[in-house]
Amino acid sequence: MSRTDLIGLLPSEMEDLAVELGASRYRGRQLATWIYRKGVCALDRMTDLSREFRAALADRVTLRLPEIERVDESGDGSRKLVFRLDDGARVSAVLMPDDDRMTLCLSTQVGCGFECAFCLTGTMGLDRNLTTGEIVGQLLAANDLAGEEHRVTHLVFMGMGEPLANYEALATAIRIFTDARLGVGYSPRRITVSTVGLVAGIEKLGRDELKVNLAISLHGASDDVRSRLMPVNRSWNLATLMDAVKKYPLAPRQRVFFEYVMLEGVNDSDDDARRLVRLLRGVRAKVNLIPFNDWEGATFRRSPLARILAFQAILLGSGVTTTVRWSKGEDIGAACGQLRESVPA
Ligand code: SAH
Repeated sequence: MSRTDLIGLLPSEMEDLAVELGASRYRGRQLATWIYRKGVCALDRMTDLSREFRAALADRVTLRLPEIERVDESGDGSRKLVFRLDDGARVSAVLMPDDDRMTLCLSTQVGCGFECAFCLTGTMGLDRNLTTGEIVGQLLAANDLAGEEHRVTHLVFMGMGEPLANYEALATAIRIFTDARLGVGYSPRRITVSTVGLVAGIEKLGRDELKVNLAISLHGASDDVRSRLMPVNRSWNLATLMDAVKKYPLAPRQRVFFEYVMLEGVNDSDDDARRLVRLLRGVRAKVNLIPFNDWEGATFRRSPLARILAFQAILLGSGVTTTVRWSKGEDIGAACGQLRESVPA
């Protein structure tokens, strides 16, 4: 029988497992508390579990943090963690300190299959989905590395891959992250899922009442521009996408985030800004303008700062909350759209 990976099991599944091994459900809850609440991933440190139970577990399960192959430190304080997974595939997660926040940017797939024209990850193609355990493992390993004082406070699914294309693993990971009693215990409001705009996934995320923040990678305010940048727009166009976004359940002060990469001469004109304002009418929106991060072989250029600020001014002038998000970790290839790790031969 193949071994079960403990990291990635729901607390309720750990309870079931305890019963299967002849122990009480309570033992399963203790196990979940050790792993998710205390971040302890070694059975021999779980001192309140009986020797017999630990031995039975040791025969049945695996329990270890994913291997961090490399940590790259940026001059701006962010750190890129490169994980080497069991099959040799690599993914990265990025730790970004900011005032009293520590945000972790998580990956959900090895590579990405959506081929957005301006994104380096997109040039890799999709290798495979991550398992729930591999997603949760990134957080546990990052918290372990960051240390007690600098624990992760916010989670963004903005690393490699398209979260909503790996829906079940994503949803289970979010349930583990947000379980206040036996899981890691993050408020869903501190978690953001970013998507290229997979309408079915957005609808499902709403129906499942995971309550996380939704971020839409928009990047174009007309179908013409967006389809050129993001092939996915040919399957789910702007009208369909905005319809789904408007139906996404929001708490009273919650907003939907829109990411908009600033590409010189492509999507950054005053007209584009005005189109964006019209598109967002009736949506509780917050726009993040992302100055394009360059990579070797890219065919785009970052809009000049003055252009970015003029674009922002039009949005602000129409009452659309808009910030310019300067990516972190550009010097270590950890910025938005720069994540690509070497694939095993
Ligand atoms: N697949 C999801 C999650 C990735 S989030 C999504 O697309 O939303 C990463 C964000 O960085 C996305 O908004 C993406 O469009 C943006 N991005 C990609 N390449 C970029 C680049 N070169 N410069 C700036 N932002 C980029």
